[in-house]
Amino acid sequence: MSVQYNDFGELTMGGTSLKTLAQSLGTPAFVYDEDEIRHQMRRYHEAFKKSGLNYNISYASKAFTCIQMVKLVEEEELQLDVVSEGELYTALAAGIDPSRIHFHGNNKTKKEIQYALENKVGYFVIDTLEEIDLINKYASESVDVVVRLNPGVEAHTHEFIQTGQEDSKFGLSIKHGLAKEAIDQIHESDKLNLKGVHFHIGSQIEGTEAMIETAKLVIRWLSDNDINVSLINLGGGFSIKYTENDTSFPIEEGIKKITDAIKQISKEADYPVPEIGVEPGRSIVGEAGITLYEVGTIKEIPGVNKYVAVDGGMSEHIRTALYGAEYEALLVNRQEEADETVTVAGKLCESGDIIIKNAKLPSSIKRGDYLAILSTGAYHYSMASNYNQMQKPPVYFLKDGKAREVIKRQSLRQLIINDTK
Ligand SMILES: *Cc1c(COP(=O)(O)O)cnc(C)c1O
Repeated sequence: MSVQYNDFGELTMGGTSLKTLAQSLGTPAFVYDEDEIRHQMRRYHEAFKKSGLNYNISYASKAFTCIQMVKLVEEEELQLDVVSEGELYTALAAGIDPSRIHFHGNNKTKKEIQYALENKVGYFVIDTLEEIDLINKYASESVDVVVRLNPGVEAHTHEFIQTGQEDSKFGLSIKHGLAKEAIDQIHESDKLNLKGVHFHIGSQIEGTEAMIETAKLVIRWLSDNDINVSLINLGGGFSIKYTENDTSFPIEEGIKKITDAIKQISKEADYPVPEIGVEPGRSIVGEAGITLYEVGTIKEIPGVNKYVAVDGGMSEHIRTALYGAEYEALLVNRQEEADETVTVAGKLCESGDIIIKNAKLPSSIKRGDYLAILSTGAYHYSMASNYNQMQKPPVYFLKDGKAREVIKRQSLRQLIINDTK
């Protein structure tokens, strides 16, 4: 995690006081440690370089995207996954080389397919049979495609679960013959070029077992069916540390284990070792970002609970309400022992608008204090809404002591800009 207290008892990020930042930027605000984002990207590069395999690392836009984020992706030589017209538009607006973009999605519209073709994205990740016809119809030249497989596997944090039943809206089932059918159709089409296969088996996966077992299943299937591909994309889902109960995916050891296993599996299956792709989202930006809030009302219900309300809520912090996700909060403006368990709540009109159900904080907490919620860099801003006509907070990238605004705070005017009068 990228924050620590300094000698004056103020919480800092990259050496910069978050109290000073909260005062100058206003709250709520998202602040990312830019060096940490770059560091995570470089760790993946280094780990793969050591393996000696061909590889590509693709950042999943959905975790957090904006023009400046895409620029980091390009500067650090990652590729980029997009799943919608809007994510593609953002990527193109940032000026990234379109051949670095991969277009995903289980229901790509005709318009999206045409837009992606016009802009010559690197490849499409085929998720349905119909898509093959659509791309073939609209493409004016050869297009690389990767088939998203549904291997009938789910990863539940530590465990590898072979579900046997492929009840998912994503991918083409191996077991039910859809994957093979897709590949046959691609081979028959005049414009589609089969570059590889893809799977994505879950999120916040802590170990490597599920990914390795799935790769084994897939490589054997490719080998048994004489399907030649130059790329296997293992998807994303690498874990991060939200609280002390979690572990961040150990990138160096993890990628080593995975690539070693793939070399071995390929050898056993007598299959040429393919290029390996990964698509981390959360593990690139999750721990690098925090949310700053100002404390307002404190409501103590004697013998029941103490609610510490902040100036935002589920409009930019939905994961607690949505998944029961857990987070840690730190007091920003003074360092004191966390001697009390309280509920940090938002200010929206919903009982479920909770940021942290059981937060450990100092009992001295009072109105006007600032809180930092840790590990909110992924799936926070990108999932933010205007519920209760809340304005989306601004986003800053902190580097060398300077907070660079990458997304402005939404204005009141922007809340009604599309309303007709
Ligand atoms: C969501 C998703 C990712 C990124 O997942 P993280 O958990 O953020 O790493 C990668 N690939 C696909 C296909 C996804 O749907």
